[in-house]
Amino acid sequence: MSSESSTVPWSLTQRRPSRQIMVGKVPVGGGAPISVQSMTITKTADVEGTLQQIYALAAAGCDIIRCTCNEIEAAEGLAQIIPRSPVPIIADIHHQYKMALAAMEAGVHGLRLNPGNIRRPEHIKAVASEARDRGISIRIGVNGGSLDPELYDKYGGKVTAEAMVESALREIAYFDEVGFDQIKISVKASNVPLMVEAYRQLSEVTDHPLHLGVTEAGPLPNGLLKATAGIAALLLEGIGDTIRYSLTADPVEEARAGRQLLEALGLRERKNVDLIACPSCGRAEIDVIDVANRAMLAFGERKIPLQVAVMGCVVNGPGEAREADLGIAAGNKRGHLFVKGRNVAVVPESEMVEALVEWAEFIHEHGAEAAIARVDTKKAEREAAKDRSMLLNAQGDDVNRSNERIVEIRKKS
Ligand code: SF4
Repeated sequence: MSSESSTVPWSLTQRRPSRQIMVGKVPVGGGAPISVQSMTITKTADVEGTLQQIYALAAAGCDIIRCTCNEIEAAEGLAQIIPRSPVPIIADIHHQYKMALAAMEAGVHGLRLNPGNIRRPEHIKAVASEARDRGISIRIGVNGGSLDPELYDKYGGKVTAEAMVESALREIAYFDEVGFDQIKISVKASNVPLMVEAYRQLSEVTDHPLHLGVTEAGPLPNGLLKATAGIAALLLEGIGDTIRYSLTADPVEEARAGRQLLEALGLRERKNVDLIACPSCGRAEIDVIDVANRAMLAFGERKIPLQVAVMGCVVNGPGEAREADLGIAAGNKRGHLFVKGRNVAVVPESEMVEALVEWAEFIHEHGAEAAIARVDTKKAEREAAKDRSMLLNAQGDDVNRSNERIVEIRKKS
């Protein structure tokens, strides 16, 4: 295997072919929608607290949830959590293979094993045999921070992509010995280029589904950027079947981020509003940041899969956001609503957010054509044209006064 950066033959739309496994009712790999995972941060023995977090994660778009199983009380908790969970549950196992056996007894849909800290072949094979007999899938979760010390030494006392891939392949070999193949694999590192390279190499030597993540990405917003950089780079290359953001934050943020990334890349259908907004500039007639944030809050978790635009001025806003399903642009203390680029109504500036929500709900229920048909678009267009020309007269075509500035620059040069 080369240590040079590899190139892959797949793309965002031509995804790497992989086998399909099941995590409970959720298929992973083999052309299934890319799933979003997260992990609870409660004590698993706290059944009610953990279930509350599981429900919040599921509502935020999480498809599969992992809970730690680090003690017998956690396994007992899992036995009570699983029948009440809306999504499949995976038990996270480190060091103690007996916890994997206990979690399976509790009824988990999947396991995550770390080959760096469960190393005795007879233990690995005992778990895999039990999983095989029960129809449970296992993630081989290699982690750059807890690599098998033997591999660490073999690769010169460094965590390398090759070492992480070898760790995963060794584990697969043990599973093969007992005829177990319901496997997905992760090779996470906190270093983004290392993690990307490890997944690229892994994708070339196995067709098992891959679980993507940047481990210990950290708090917001840096962690979000790091995790997105690594996960998105691979998804754009067609690599990855399930993803997890590992953030030092409320896990609901992980689920939201995962979901939003997949929607932004067109890999999952939109569930909620995609709010776009202009960055604002000298032409803005409103505080765009404030209105956009209030609109985000107002839409919240409403299941309205539309793209909605908040634009700072009616001069350029409707044109720049003409692809949005619905938008609003400010001008002369009024909000100009537009649907699919067509002006439909004018509302007072103070009612812009409420109007957006009301129109979004109508469009979601009845469609854009019906929304346009219920109003006099000609009148709305006349009002928008009036405010647009008023602003142009007041501000000119050139809001930065570049012609005047150029004259001044030339005078001084
Ligand atoms: S829509 Fe208007 S306010 Fe917003 S960036 Fe464009 S020109 Fe500036």
